[in-house]
Amino acid sequence: MLVRRTLPHRNRRAIGAWCFVDAYGPDEVAATGGMVVPPHPHTGLQTVSWLFSGEVLHRDSLESEQLIRPGQLNLMTAGHGIAHSEDSTTGFSGPLHGVQFWVALPAVEQHRPPDFAHHADLPQVAIGAATATVILGSLAGADSPAHSYSPLLGAEIALPAGTTEIPVRPDFEHGLLAIDGPISLRDGSGPGTAVADGSLLAVDPGRSSLTVAAATPTRLLLIGGEPFDEQFVMWWNFLAADHDGIATARRAWEQQTDRFGIVPGGRAVLPAPALPTTRLRPRGRRR
Ligand code: MN
Repeated sequence: MLVRRTLPHRNRRAIGAWCFVDAYGPDEVAATGGMVVPPHPHTGLQTVSWLFSGEVLHRDSLESEQLIRPGQLNLMTAGHGIAHSEDSTTGFSGPLHGVQFWVALPAVEQHRPPDFAHHADLPQVAIGAATATVILGSLAGADSPAHSYSPLLGAEIALPAGTTEIPVRPDFEHGLLAIDGPISLRDGSGPGTAVADGSLLAVDPGRSSLTVAAATPTRLLLIGGEPFDEQFVMWWNFLAADHDGIATARRAWEQQTDRFGIVPGGRAVLPAPALPTTRLRPRGRRR
């Protein structure tokens, strides 16, 4: 499956607390088998699963079992530790297309109890001729019921051809992820900044709106948040404050202690890779 990872980037580790963005597909499940991700752990972050087409079955060590479909949110708060698996289902054949995001938890929340939430009824709001589905946070007066631990925005916006002015918080930085066609961010009267299909444009705080232009109807994922000023380490599926936090989590996973629990189903778990021989250094959002 083709995966485009736009965060973390060499020069930019996070937009708000959004610290990982993988866009995958569209991928014909009948030809490829689709998604097969055996049980693996997470710490210190939330996973945000979002589909444009297809379906995926989530199972976790809290005994959650949840099918996710386009327009729905699976929000898993790893906190101190959780394990989950994600798989394509036999009942669906067609294109699988979606995005996996991670959100960094602030240090004071990194060891909170794990949680899983499914949101099937997210608010939609018109912005001119565009329609936004609010995944996290608030946009144009619509509030997502999903819980985050730092001020965040996530929305899928169906853009019409032409320009759309999206109202945003000037204290947020933003990211524009073009999903199925190029877009551009207008700035004054110039041609603006092009965002190629599959690319992520980072926009600094200080704007009260983002004027986005599309030549044809297309989808945009808009992420944003207060600049996340904490340092953290991200390694494999773990986020922690420092090297020792990562090493401790890795050891607990390798020893299959009760920190992560068991994903029902009795499948073999994903082994953790070896730690690097040097200590992992905590870093901030910019390199
Ligand atoms: Mn995962």
